[in-house]
Amino acid sequence: MKGIVYHGPRDMRVDDVPDPALQEPGDVVVRIERTAICGSDLHLYHGEPLAMSGFTMGHEFLGVIEDAGVDVRRFRKGDRVIVSCTVGCGDCSACRQQLCSGCEVTTVFGPLTNVFGSPLLPGGQAEAARVPFADANLFAVPDSLDAERALFLTDILPTGYMGADLAEVAPGDVVVVFGCGPVGTFAQRSALLRGASCVVAVDLDRGRLAKAEKRGCVSLDPSRESLVERVRELTAGRGADCAIEAVGLDTLLRDAIEVTRPGGRIAVIGVFPADELSLPFLSGVIGKNLTIRGGLVNPQRYVPKLLPLIEQGRIDPGEIITHRIPLTEGARGYEIFDAHEEDVLKVVLEP
Ligand SMILES: [Zn+2]
Ligand SMILES: [Zn+2]
Repeated sequence: MKGIVYHGPRDMRVDDVPDPALQEPGDVVVRIERTAICGSDLHLYHGEPLAMSGFTMGHEFLGVIEDAGVDVRRFRKGDRVIVSCTVGCGDCSACRQQLCSGCEVTTVFGPLTNVFGSPLLPGGQAEAARVPFADANLFAVPDSLDAERALFLTDILPTGYMGADLAEVAPGDVVVVFGCGPVGTFAQRSALLRGASCVVAVDLDRGRLAKAEKRGCVSLDPSRESLVERVRELTAGRGADCAIEAVGLDTLLRDAIEVTRPGGRIAVIGVFPADELSLPFLSGVIGKNLTIRGGLVNPQRYVPKLLPLIEQGRIDPGEIITHRIPLTEGARGYEIFDAHEEDVLKVVLEP
């Protein structure tokens, strides 16, 4: 079958790769209907060369079960399913708290090794993929939902919603969201759904800011006006109740600490490439009694809340799709997404 394979930085190729097969009795093989390129895939695309290459990329995919192991109880061949981007065993103490991202079984080789599209877990930018512990990591797609509306439940819609959840966005709150990319978009939507009185959308890209305004946000380009002053104006000098960092830049996290009011909450959902950050801790976090929370997404926790909102039309995740291209042209998809060509926001691949 065809799959997009990591050969090193800026070197993704559509290769012939082995067809996936069941390895454990709890596995399924999913024939992929739609898949997508994620902002976090670009970290590999830009990053330092990895020790291993030759693995299939992609952690956002849905499709139809082609084969199921004998221990799979909740699903069977022919079911249409969304696949969680993070894989848990479903049975350890982390998984029982719906924290499959920190599963004690699937992260034995280290954090993030249980995300699809890695050397240990071949991904879904392909025609098919093996999903371990299927009962814990799949969700049935209702017949009423087309692939494009369901696809982003695999990662970025729950990630955006998690931002609003970790920041405890409540009715009446003023919320600053750093980033108007796909995850920032969904964080803004989620903050509005939870009753924020004002969502300030921060980005440098004018096209993305215009889209944020259309969804009801106050747009702000920090290269053209002062973020601190604007937030002060919008909050009678108090500061924002919540901030959500959806980019992965430490300068933005510093800005978040600066614009958030005493006692406010900050959620970090952007992927930070560096492991260590320098932050104003005494004057910021301690001095202002701030809460900072971050995390890797757990679709297992959020999909049951978000699916009905999509079905009811209260959120349409397909709004972010700007490009639909065949999987066989996936390498070009990476180039477009990386270079911000053609006002790209999200690239969906069709196997
Ligand atoms: Zn993703
Ligand atoms: Zn587990």
